[in-house]
Amino acid sequence: MTLIRFKASQEQDADLSITYDAVVVGSGAAGGMAAHVLTSQGMKVLLLEAGKKIDINAELRSMEWPYDHPRRGEGPPGNHAIRFNEYNIRKPPYAKGSAFKHVFSYVGGWGGSDYVKNILVDEKQHPYTGTKYAWVRARLLGGKTNIWGRLALRLSDYDFKGKTHDGFGEDWPISYADIEPYYDKVDLYLGISGHKENLPHLPDSLFQRPNKLTASEVKLRKSLATMGRTVTPYRAGVTTDGVKNKYRSKCFGRGACGRRPGGCDIHAAFDSPTGLIYPAMDTGNLTLRTNSIGHEVLVDPNTGKARGISFVDAVNHRTYEAKAKVVILAASTLESARLLLLSKSRQYPNGIGNSSGHVGHNFCEHVMGPGVTGMVKEQVGAAPTLDDGKPGGFYIPRFRNLQDKQPGFIRGYGFEGGSGFSIFPDGVWDTPGFGGQFKKSVRDHAGAFIGLGGFGEVLARYENQVDLDPEVKDDWGIPVLRFNYQFGDNEKKMCEDMAASGKEMLEAAGIEVIGVDKNILTEGWSIHELGTARMGTDPKTSVLNQFQQSHDVKNLFVVDGSSHVSASCQNPTWTIMALAWRSCEHLADELKRGNL
Ligand SMILES: Cc1cc2nc3c(=O)[nH]c(=O)nc-3n(C[C@H](O)[C@H](O)[C@H](O)COP(=O)(O)OP(=O)(O)OC[C@H]3O[C@@H](n4cnc5c(N)ncnc54)[C@H](O)[C@@H]3O)c2cc1C
Ligand code: SF4
Repeated sequence: MTLIRFKASQEQDADLSITYDAVVVGSGAAGGMAAHVLTSQGMKVLLLEAGKKIDINAELRSMEWPYDHPRRGEGPPGNHAIRFNEYNIRKPPYAKGSAFKHVFSYVGGWGGSDYVKNILVDEKQHPYTGTKYAWVRARLLGGKTNIWGRLALRLSDYDFKGKTHDGFGEDWPISYADIEPYYDKVDLYLGISGHKENLPHLPDSLFQRPNKLTASEVKLRKSLATMGRTVTPYRAGVTTDGVKNKYRSKCFGRGACGRRPGGCDIHAAFDSPTGLIYPAMDTGNLTLRTNSIGHEVLVDPNTGKARGISFVDAVNHRTYEAKAKVVILAASTLESARLLLLSKSRQYPNGIGNSSGHVGHNFCEHVMGPGVTGMVKEQVGAAPTLDDGKPGGFYIPRFRNLQDKQPGFIRGYGFEGGSGFSIFPDGVWDTPGFGGQFKKSVRDHAGAFIGLGGFGEVLARYENQVDLDPEVKDDWGIPVLRFNYQFGDNEKKMCEDMAASGKEMLEAAGIEVIGVDKNILTEGWSIHELGTARMGTDPKTSVLNQFQQSHDVKNLFVVDGSSHVSASCQNPTWTIMALAWRSCEHLADELKRGNL
């Protein structure tokens, strides 16, 4: 392919005539970590990001009050966020034929949608097809880490060795002991807030100052302890004591990250640009090119090794090539699978790294929806307290199928929750009356609510899969993903149990249950997609080895959630980064030894 050299959009200082030590595709949690680890090893790295670089602080406006915004934070007319019913009644592509100018995923419908209109992708430009799926994508420098929910959890050997435990699926090719030192490195480099609990199924991190539980949460914690369950302060990927990083401040407990769709303009909450990419650029070893949509891993026809990436400039729509000794995909679980499948050549007719036929398969995530709301009677009429001035509420770790064996389902779920006063009083829509009495009632009850919602493991099944749509393309002419994915019986039974156990826990604590939600949200809602290029020891049934290195192409690595063998029920981002750190250290060693 002819190399076209053209000055396109902002900060295009990438020299495409040279061969970099590594090219990294995607700048979220995974790509940012790859850039950090490799540049700190002295490697010259080119980071390609499909989205643009925006002035994120101006976008987030973390300290803007609703009344300071002309539409109280709502997006402009013509912007539409897909609703739950649309996801279920219609089929993707959801924006097809829409009368709205811009269509966003459901996250655009959360309070403050004006703050994410340049962060979430416009579904009109980025369609996908197949079965219903609520796919949330953030295409900009830092990806979804700009607005993530910050819950930062470790996995344990209950997760890594799930098959040994209950016979289903595959064990990971690593155990907790292999990844523990890298979790520690991530904790120390980025900062994490939390409280030690000594649970074998939810290992502790190296925590900074925890957030305080509210009075209602302490009440629930005491009660659950008698049931052998735990309420622990939200384990937030937020530095509460500070880290050595000039781009980040420590947390001042402003709660802005929880009141809006996410984001922290002083970057106490981890995001990839300030946490990883800017420090990596300061080494002098990182070149960043934004607006660069990777669409094919290029192959050396003589060696069968990867020789670089072909990418489309998002602004001028021209195609370029970047050359590198090692190619690292970190475009997120589904986009990395798409890239592997798009990279068809004579040597790799089914897509690069896909001799097993497993790319796109074993796709898994978390199921959510069921939850409970309670009213803590003794908090009714209590004096207001600052309950949401912190980066998260609480977490109840998994308690099912550890020592016990549930009759209806395998694996487990945890609950995320919160309680107390918030910027907009809970219960306001359901409070009857008007005038002074109505206002008093709303104020009296505002701090007495407590709520929890479950996140459960979706089993990694071969038949849950994505592939390339043979006809539909995105705005840049690149074939899009087609989903063939749905929840199974295990997920449905688990969700029934979530609603029942949530109710049981509030009742046991003497908290009045005022709402039980049994509905399962659409596939994809958790934004924790995983497992489309899983690791394993057998190249016939897995795509990557334990270092996220392709079994077929030794200088190709895929360092995001696509490598996960199972979903566990813990949020994945901290594990994505610990694994990427481990793999990139290995990669740098192997490159030095001449093994790649
Ligand atoms: C609202 C919200 C709340 C969340 N809450 C939590 C939570 O509490 N805890 C948790 O653990 N996780 C949470 N997550 C998920 C978390 O954000 C992801 O797990 C994490 O960002 C994954 O990192 P990644 O690098 O794989 O993907 P991303 O962060 O999505 O980054 C991928 C990057 O690759 C780029 N890219 C895509 N395709 C290409 C291409 N072809 N070429 C070049 N670049 C490309 C994208 O533009 C993007 O910048 C949440 C996410 C959202 C949106
Ligand atoms: S609570 Fe902490 S992490 Fe959240 S927005 Fe405020 S300073 Fe940032």
